[in-house]
Amino acid sequence: METNATPYPNHEIWFLTGSQGLYGDDILQQVAHQSRSISEILGGPGKIPVRIVWKPVLTDAESIRRLCQEASASDACVGVIVWMHTFSPAKMWIAGLSALDRPLLHLHTQYNLSLPWPSIDMDFMNLNQAAHGDREFAHIESRLGIERKIVAGHATDPRVVRRIAAWARAAAGRQASRTLRLARFGDNMRDVAVTEGDKVEAQIRFGFSVNTYAVNDLVAVVDQVEDKAATELAAEYVESYDVVPALRPGGIRHDSLLYAARQELGLRAFLTEGGFTAFTTNFEDLGGLRQLPGLAVQRLMADGYGFGGEGDWKTSALLRVMKVMGLEQPGGTTFMEDYTYHLGPGTPRVRGAHMLEVCPSIAAARPRCEIHPLSIGGREDPVRLVFDAAPGPALVVGLADLGDRFRLTANAVDVITPSEPLRRLPVARAVWKPRPSLAESAESWLLSGAPHHTVLSSAVDRESLTDFAAMTGVELLTIDEKTDVEQLAREIRWNAAYHRLAQAL
Ligand code: MN
Repeated sequence: METNATPYPNHEIWFLTGSQGLYGDDILQQVAHQSRSISEILGGPGKIPVRIVWKPVLTDAESIRRLCQEASASDACVGVIVWMHTFSPAKMWIAGLSALDRPLLHLHTQYNLSLPWPSIDMDFMNLNQAAHGDREFAHIESRLGIERKIVAGHATDPRVVRRIAAWARAAAGRQASRTLRLARFGDNMRDVAVTEGDKVEAQIRFGFSVNTYAVNDLVAVVDQVEDKAATELAAEYVESYDVVPALRPGGIRHDSLLYAARQELGLRAFLTEGGFTAFTTNFEDLGGLRQLPGLAVQRLMADGYGFGGEGDWKTSALLRVMKVMGLEQPGGTTFMEDYTYHLGPGTPRVRGAHMLEVCPSIAAARPRCEIHPLSIGGREDPVRLVFDAAPGPALVVGLADLGDRFRLTANAVDVITPSEPLRRLPVARAVWKPRPSLAESAESWLLSGAPHHTVLSSAVDRESLTDFAAMTGVELLTIDEKTDVEQLAREIRWNAAYHRLAQAL
């Protein structure tokens, strides 16, 4: 029976322990007992967010190879932790590691926290050998060029737990990416460069598939939504948000709220039917849709769907992956766009938003539900949620296609409460101070060729994003309090050389 609820009930991380037959059954039983106890500490409540499954101690090449193949074939296993409790001659691991197709975390630990100085004898030495057993294993990992995260320390150390937890979230994100199906309604916005990209390469690199539909395929589903269902959902809106009187039942614009509800129900039905967890729209191509979907997109993002405006499938997929990585964490994750700057007086800051589509998971307070004209698109006035983002540290992340590879760029920022209320701006928005400063952040972001569409998240930490980039073999440029623009320019040149050399010929 499942006792520790996790945000990822269908996922497992397998805990593998290496040893060898030479030690004899008594020692190997102690190895099994101790490694099991470490996996239980890590699997305790509030520790690693994915269930840890302990596997019997591995002592020969054949069982190692078989288990690595099982892990790679398992739909449940999203990552593997390996620890050499004793000495496990590493040639035994070559076939297994070569066959492993799961993220690998090398845990360098030992059972006892302290050495029992007065009583330490050769039996103790025989049993507790991870200090050199893990060095032997790390050598073969390096020799094979195996991408892995190394975490050193005792299982009760909060730093160890935090680092493994960040990796486990990244592994769940990788799994979400590999199973992600994305629906695009229409193509991307005409003449825009950065929203383009190689969808085949994206599927090879990240595993997600991008499929385009005519927007009128969606319109047909929206038009089939029953009046009763739309009325009930509109009533839920009135419960959930501060809905302006004109949109409420009996109000002069109530029909627009009913149409927004119809859009949400239609989109949900379409996405559910096709097994999609991310989508895009394009305000230039709305077919028979009466409004640009605003409220519907905002609510679907709040439920964990990825979204990108203007046909931006890369940002949509990234948003979905980051939604999964940040599951049940404090804070929120949303589609975002750098819109306009405050350059002074005071600390320069960015005012971000989109036409409508910002996720209420980042809202500081209960959103208002309003209706206003949209100056572009030429459709009926769209219904949208309006709010300010909650203050606190966050990441702004962009995914760009450089032609020969993908690049993630991340900026550590501090979301702040606007110094003055934005009374006449009827969209959801966030104000933030980028680190190290607006000027250095913007110079770095532009040097990296990173997109204007981003994912803003206060739920995903830098370590998870770094681990995800490593697992997928994607370049990550991080702009934070330590960034020096000249140094970053050099890093970009080195990375170009590295990534071109690292590609298969
Ligand atoms: Mn945009």
